Amino acid sequence: MFNKILIANRGEIAVRIIRTCQQAGVQTVAVYSDADARSLHVQQADEAVLLGNARSAESYLVAEKIIDAALKTGCQAIHPGYGFLSENAEFCEKISRAGLVFIGPPASAIATLGDKVASKALAQKAGVPVVPGHVGTLSGVEEAVSIAEQIGFPVLIKPAAGGGGKGMRIVASKDEMAPAFSACQEETRKAFGEHHLFIEKYIENPRHIEIQILADRYGNVIYLGERECSIQRRYQKIIEESPSPAVDSALRQKMGEMSCSLAKSAGYTNAGTVEFIVDQDLNFYFLEMNTRLQVEHPVTELVTGLDLVALQLKIAYGEALSIRQEDVSFKGAAIEARICAEDPSRNFLPATGMITRYAPPRGRNIRVDSGVEAGSVVSVYYDSLLSKIISWGDTRESARMALIDALNGYHIEGVVTNLDFVNLILNHPEFAAGNLSTGFIAQYFDGDQAKIPPPADRLCLIALATTLIYHNRQNLVRDSLKPMAAHVGGAAKPRAWYHYMVKGEEDIFEVRLQGNPDTRTWTIWVNGNQYQVLTPDLEFYRRRMKLSINGQFHRFRLQFQGNFIWAAHCGIARVFEIYSHREWELSQFMPKIQKQVLDNILECPMPGLVVDLRAQKGDRVYRGQELVIVESMKMESGVASPCDGEVLEVLVQKGQAVDTGDVLMRFKH
Ligand code: ADP
Repeated sequence: MFNKILIANRGEIAVRIIRTCQQAGVQTVAVYSDADARSLHVQQADEAVLLGNARSAESYLVAEKIIDAALKTGCQAIHPGYGFLSENAEFCEKISRAGLVFIGPPASAIATLGDKVASKALAQKAGVPVVPGHVGTLSGVEEAVSIAEQIGFPVLIKPAAGGGGKGMRIVASKDEMAPAFSACQEETRKAFGEHHLFIEKYIENPRHIEIQILADRYGNVIYLGERECSIQRRYQKIIEESPSPAVDSALRQKMGEMSCSLAKSAGYTNAGTVEFIVDQDLNFYFLEMNTRLQVEHPVTELVTGLDLVALQLKIAYGEALSIRQEDVSFKGAAIEARICAEDPSRNFLPATGMITRYAPPRGRNIRVDSGVEAGSVVSVYYDSLLSKIISWGDTRESARMALIDALNGYHIEGVVTNLDFVNLILNHPEFAAGNLSTGFIAQYFDGDQAKIPPPADRLCLIALATTLIYHNRQNLVRDSLKPMAAHVGGAAKPRAWYHYMVKGEEDIFEVRLQGNPDTRTWTIWVNGNQYQVLTPDLEFYRRRMKLSINGQFHRFRLQFQGNFIWAAHCGIARVFEIYSHREWELSQFMPKIQKQVLDNILECPMPGLVVDLRAQKGDRVYRGQELVIVESMKMESGVASPCDGEVLEVLVQKGQAVDTGDVLMRFKH
């Protein structure tokens, strides 16, 4: 085996690769940018080499610096992880030329499969069904229209160099083609530095299902089953699972064998993934082949019991695959949730900051692949993935319950994440039923909220938990005041039961509780429903609480500020206001405070870089019109005007770094 390898990546994937290397006795060299000097992957590697400035173009994307670091530290091979240079054929070639091993496929396979048009042609030749359309790049709008008329609208136009769903446009009719074509071309040029487009039939409500393959240098190719990655937002995967609830063993075998034959005809080695979209009638069509380890590879590892990184190392070292297809077996089900630094309540804008508290979930069937810890700084420079939580169960349902429970107890403070949004998806009855499609979020969600209301019984449990914690904290305060109260002769008499009012967003809960902090057993009524509750010791100052309610354990995440308690459970995250019954009656007579909203300024909603200004001084603008484009974490977002008016002043320039709350423009109206 290799003695030492360099990992040309950062974040959770670098940490995950280091873990396997440690088990295999392989030393590791991490690389990092200025912004990552204190990050987890740097701490965990045996050695670390600084590449340069925070911007990827000056660090993680500079092949020469990475290869130089590998040579200087005496590495024999480079693992590229995913993203960055992982699918760059030139990088792979340079590595071989330097006398090092690239832990991945040969450059020729990356080059062919990296081009979506060329890979489609190859798939067709290997007998793999491809999405109806045209195998070739488009010469212009006219050709696009004529092909669309042959295959039938709606169609999808896509960048040939594609990745991350960038640039793709759905075109529903002839008239929409010209504007969509130029928008797609423009975005393609920006993202990939070239402008070739191709066209496909748009498959309505498809599933995204992919096959993991492994190939050695001696012509052995095997498949490790499928992953379903249909839960996507803007073509970005959020939740992945294996097996797919839609795939039976016959379909698995068919898709698996076809993927292997494609890999063979591409001269593929190492780990790779063949992506398909699958229509409602379970017809499957080749989308593309990813020539690297995927973000979602852990679900395959949990159901097959294999370590894909260990196998990647062995294959790259020149070993023959020690497992044959008939040795691969699948056990149970696994689901992965991607936890990203983004704010679902603000249209999923990227979030940054320092993680001030961090408590990852634990558990027998829970795996945490994280790139962060308390003290980690989430910057604007890299993508927003912080960690992945992966659960395993005998059945899909038990894996789902385990993942929900893990997320209920996953506490991250300091940076806003999509944790509760992901949890809400897992709790959705259609997800539970396995009715998945890439349109799932658009179909069942409105922004970050499910279209169906949260189940009343869940809300009652949250009201119960918040009241209990409030009550106990109040008691602790009362206890600490006892000596003083006795002194002035005013000790409160112990009472048999307490009565609270809990105000949620739309509902009011009446909570009565009877019990004893010393025995930790309580009887609690929420809106008349009775619950038997057992509290663990010493939990009342923590941000996570595990309660036994009617004999079942439930976890809650909580934060307090006076009688306001923020609570999250099963994806429902709300602020609750708690009053004693007496306070509540009095508060009904209090005037309500109105929040003032400033609408004569344009405030920057996130930290980032101004990449475009879409209005100038003196321009008339309309509410909702995007005026400034800010780039953050590889994503461009428009900042929309809060009012109808005229631009009085533009306070920023293109290329300027901006922060949350910075005033970008002023208006007159
Ligand atoms: P990228 O490489 O940019 O991620 P892909 O070709 O892998 O692009 O497609 C990403 C996602 O876009 C798929 O998972 C699927 O949700 C959707 N998609 C791609 N092609 C089609 C199509 N022809 N019809 C419907 N949806 C599609």
